Amino acid sequence: MENSTYQCCFCDKKIQSDVTGLVVVTNWEKDKNSQQEQQLFCHMKCLKNAVSDKFPLYIADLIE
Ligand SMILES: [Zn+2]
Repeated sequence: MENSTYQCCFCDKKIQSDVTGLVVVTNWEKDKNSQQEQQLFCHMKCLKNAVSDKFPLYIADLIE
């Protein structure tokens, strides 16, 4: 883990610490055979800025 570098999927900058991972799943409502997963990394700050103000991003509150 220490040698890994992470690129923020929102601002394209390198993430220095407190890496946030997102797992995107396609076809969520369908069966597993038609789903695909991708893991993305970001700054929590960038994730907060990207989601709607009305969206409850509870996880951001938990780490502060
Ligand atoms: Zn970022």
